[in-house]
Amino acid sequence: MKIKALKGFKDIVPGEVELWQYLERVAREVFDRFHFREIRLPILEETELFARSIGEATDIVEKEMYTFVDKKITMRPEATASLLRAYIEHGLYVQKPVQRLFTIGPMFRHERPQRGRLRQFHQMDIEVLGTDNPLADTELMAMAAMLFEELDINVSLELNSLGCPECRPGYRARLLAYIAERHDALCGDCKRRSTTNPLRVLDCKVPSCREQILDAPSLLDHLCGPCKDHFEQVQAGLRQLGVSYRLNKFMVRGLDYYCRTTFEFITSDLGAQAAVAAGGRYDGLIETLGGPKNSPGIGFAMGMERLVLLLQQQAKSPVEEEKIDLFVAGIGAQAARAGFGLVHEMRARKFSVAMDYEGRSLKSQMKQADKAGARFVLIVGDDELALGKGILRNMMNKEEQQDIALSASAIAECLLKK
Ligand code: ATP
Ligand code: MG
Repeated sequence: MKIKALKGFKDIVPGEVELWQYLERVAREVFDRFHFREIRLPILEETELFARSIGEATDIVEKEMYTFVDKKITMRPEATASLLRAYIEHGLYVQKPVQRLFTIGPMFRHERPQRGRLRQFHQMDIEVLGTDNPLADTELMAMAAMLFEELDINVSLELNSLGCPECRPGYRARLLAYIAERHDALCGDCKRRSTTNPLRVLDCKVPSCREQILDAPSLLDHLCGPCKDHFEQVQAGLRQLGVSYRLNKFMVRGLDYYCRTTFEFITSDLGAQAAVAAGGRYDGLIETLGGPKNSPGIGFAMGMERLVLLLQQQAKSPVEEEKIDLFVAGIGAQAARAGFGLVHEMRARKFSVAMDYEGRSLKSQMKQADKAGARFVLIVGDDELALGKGILRNMMNKEEQQDIALSASAIAECLLKK
């Protein structure tokens, strides 16, 4: 019986992996420009970490986590909680008042697999810790926008503010009253949410619920003075940097820890899986997790599967075809053996080199060289070997070939000249 990968878990095979590498390369380069440093985190954490940060009454904690019940540990469903755990554990706030960190890796959520939605998926997660300055919010969104532009990916930014513990309770009460009047018309999930987490009713995807909440009160009309001021400054910053956005009063995000600024970058090119990046501010979370008091933070995560799908849809692939510097074709046992040594020497000289060691025909080896995108082929036969010579063929200009001494230094010199 053949064993297959689990449902919702995917291999990223050669031919596909190049786009992932490209995405990561461009992103790392942008993160570097914005002075973010990498942190690498474990995949398993105590279940309590996610329950406490993401919130008990969220989809993730209620039904999406992979938990080893007997050990009370969970495969991380997102990166922020782990990153903050590490930030606190290593006292990173002592080293620098503001820490700018990113991490890249797999996350795990037990949801129904679809295009752009997997059970093991990958995120690039970026966080600015230790400041509640609205410029940090603006800068993060501007960085994401810059990255998407450099990737040639078309997305739009949606923005909201979720207020703070000062202003949200008052709003929550108004929303509860509004929902209570429409309770019977809501879906089962929303009926349940309306008491545990009423804000979540606002972003329910069920059409009949969406209809019901069209005229729901907006948090943006009920922000307290400081939240209002903060939100205005964030928007002024976006306008200053020329980052376009749209206010979306229904965007509440699925995690409990958010306050003030929340945002999503969405695309219309991936069907139902519209969000490619999402995040927001979480000013009370570090303290909740046992960190220092008054340590604000903001961050967002990008879904790499969705970004790769968007890159795949581009007319011209941003990734170059496979290429190597040299293919060594040995014809005959002796020649192949000598070629094997030369290949190793050339690799030590930093050339990318391939050979076939199955003793195939010259024709078949030339085909392989072509497939590998070799710039040059070195042909060595037993007769040439006796004379200490080989034939170097320039594959970029197939007419051109020359005799060459079978020494790595002679071959290297020739390759560098062309
Ligand atoms: P969605 O509404 O699509 O379920 P989410 O709000 O649960 O997204 P976040 O927790 O904010 O997502 O994660 C940030 C990003 O990670 C999302 O915008 C998306 O691009 C990506 N993402 C989330 N869940 C998955 C998944 N199961 N498979 C692939 N990508 C995902
Ligand atoms: Mg989700």
